[in-house]
Formats: sequence, structure tokens, C-alpha cells
Amino acid sequence: MHKPIRRTAVIGAGVMGSGIAAHFANAGLEVLLLDIVPPNLTDAEKKDPAKRNGFAAGGLEKAIKARPAAFFHKDNARLVKIGNVEDDLDKLKDCDLVIEAIIEKMEAKQALFEKLEKVVPQHCIVASNTSGLRISEMTKGRSDNFKKHFVVLHFFNPVRYMKLLEIVVGPEADKDVLAHAVRFAEDVLGKGVVFGKDTPNFVGNRIGAHAMMATIHQMIADGLQPEDVDNITGTPMAHPKSASFRTADLVGLDTFAHVADNCYDSLTTDEDRDVFKVPEYIRKMVEKKLLGDKTKGGFFKRG
Ligand code: NAD
Repeated sequence: MHKPIRRTAVIGAGVMGSGIAAHFANAGLEVLLLDIVPPNLTDAEKKDPAKRNGFAAGGLEKAIKARPAAFFHKDNARLVKIGNVEDDLDKLKDCDLVIEAIIEKMEAKQALFEKLEKVVPQHCIVASNTSGLRISEMTKGRSDNFKKHFVVLHFFNPVRYMKLLEIVVGPEADKDVLAHAVRFAEDVLGKGVVFGKDTPNFVGNRIGAHAMMATIHQMIADGLQPEDVDNITGTPMAHPKSASFRTADLVGLDTFAHVADNCYDSLTTDEDRDVFKVPEYIRKMVEKKLLGDKTKGGFFKRG
């Protein structure tokens, strides 16, 4: 019999982490939302807890102001407490579930899990919202108990509206832990669970990234603009809110490029691998922080 999941933490307060935290709060759960300490603080600012929690505060603020609303009711935001991973990791010792939604980079996730292993209680489910990094790599070097309690809970964006939740576990995962996570996702979070396998980018993003990358290459080959594509892939195809390039802006071009790179790097024997090659102009957009909705610049919000 598993302890009910009441106390949760979300690590990474960006597009997904803030949305997941809001969704947990909407379900009545206490949430601790942690991000990194902003890297460019002055010596004086480094001593100021409000500045140290600046990224988490910013993520929570965005979720509060999100339209359509991320919080069903503004009071739900009170269930979310903010902090940072340097000062507040020991608060995870009381958590029943910790989910990370940090940058889609293997080394960053591995380093975080190494730290989490030292603080979370034995029964705590540690989850990743990765778009498709391999579980076997992310949990390399972790204890048997950690692997037993490790699941991928891959939420889709926007978390509040997308019913789909892809759950993936590795071979070491405990069957009861998985069943517990599924019940939580369905009964508490109201999600529709599908199961993926520990394959590059699982199912959702393997298909999604393939389609988006093929669209990008086609657009370049045919000399089209994002508007030309979205005018077809939006309302006429019954996706008014999720046309191709609008979705890329919503996802974030940096995250999207990481996902495509992961497919390219992992699918070494796939004859269709080249479709995942990220074009140079998208790399330049990422460099210039034209990342989509989160930076107010991207395919549609230019400048
Ligand atoms: P994001 O760039 O919007 O946010 C990432 C956040 O993590 C940032 O606030 C950053 O400061 C923080 N961060 C980075 N390293 C950290 C660390 N070591 N500890 C704590 N915080 C750290 O990214 P996102 O779009 O929210 O994506 C987060 C995860 O969710 C990724 O694994 C991504 O692949 C996955 N995902 C994204 C989407 C999407 O549509 N954007 C959908 C499903 C899954």
C-alpha cells in the first residue's frame, strides 16, 4: 500500500514546470516549485532570498497571468511555494512525488537526479517530464531504490488543457509504483494515460518532432513562410490553436531543438534520421533568444 501523494515538488519553473505546478495546485496538492539561482546576481543580490528565488517567482507569476488561466482559481496559487535548488533541496525530504522539468539536457538531468537521490525519502516517486531522453541514461549510477521509484511523466503543453500524459518506465521500475503513478495521474490529475517505451523521444515526440521537422524542411524547400504553412495546418485541418509554427513557438525553440537533436543523435541507424537535422537559421534564432512565446520572439512574435 503506497502513501497517498500529497506533498509534491516541481523542479524547473519554465514553460512546463510552472504549468505542472499550477495543475498540481488545481488538484489540491501542495507544491514546492524550485528553479536555479539566477546566474548574474551581484554580491549583494546573492544574499537576498527574493533575488535567489527570482526564476521560480517569475515562473509562478507567468502561470498566474497565463491566458487562458493556468490556475482554475487564483487562490490555488497559494498552494505553490517557491525556492531554489541551492537553498531548498532539503525541503524535498517530505515529498511524496518530485518531478523535474528542467532543460532537456542529459548531463543536467543526471546531475539533478544525483542530488535528489540524497534527499528524497525512500517512498518518493521521482519523475521526469523529459520529452524523450533515455531513462537508462538519466538514471545511470543511481541506486536500485531510486530506479524502482523512477517514472517518466511526460505532460503535454499546455498542461492544464492537454489530457494526454505519456508514462514510461525502465525495466527496474516497481510494478506497484507504476500502478500508483497511473492512479494518481488518472484520478487526481484527471489525465488520460498512454504508455510509451524507453525509446528515443518515446511515442508522442518521435511523431511530433518528425512531423514538425519535415514541415520545416518542406517550408524551406518550397520558399514558404510560417504563415503560409499555419494557414493550412491550423483551422482548415481542425487545429486552430495548434498549427505547426504556432506550436513551435508555444513549445519553445530551444526545447524543440534539443528534442530534434536527441532524435538525430539517438537514431543512428534510422534511414529517415536526416529529417531531425536542425537548420542553421533555427540555431541562430535560439542563439538570439528568439525562442517563441516565452521570450516574446519566435516564428510569429518577431521582435
Ligand atoms: P524551459 O526552458 O521553459 O524551462 C526550464 C527551466 O528549468 C528554466 O526556468 C531553467 O532556469 C530551469 N533549470 C535549468 N536547469 C536547472 C536545474 N539544474 N535545476 C533547476 N532548474 C533548472 O523548458 P520547458 O519547455 O519547460 O521544458 C522543461 C522540460 O519539459 C524539458 O525536459 C522538455 O523537454 C520537457 N517538455 C517540454 C514541453 C514543451 O512544450 N515546452 C512539453 C513536454 C515536455
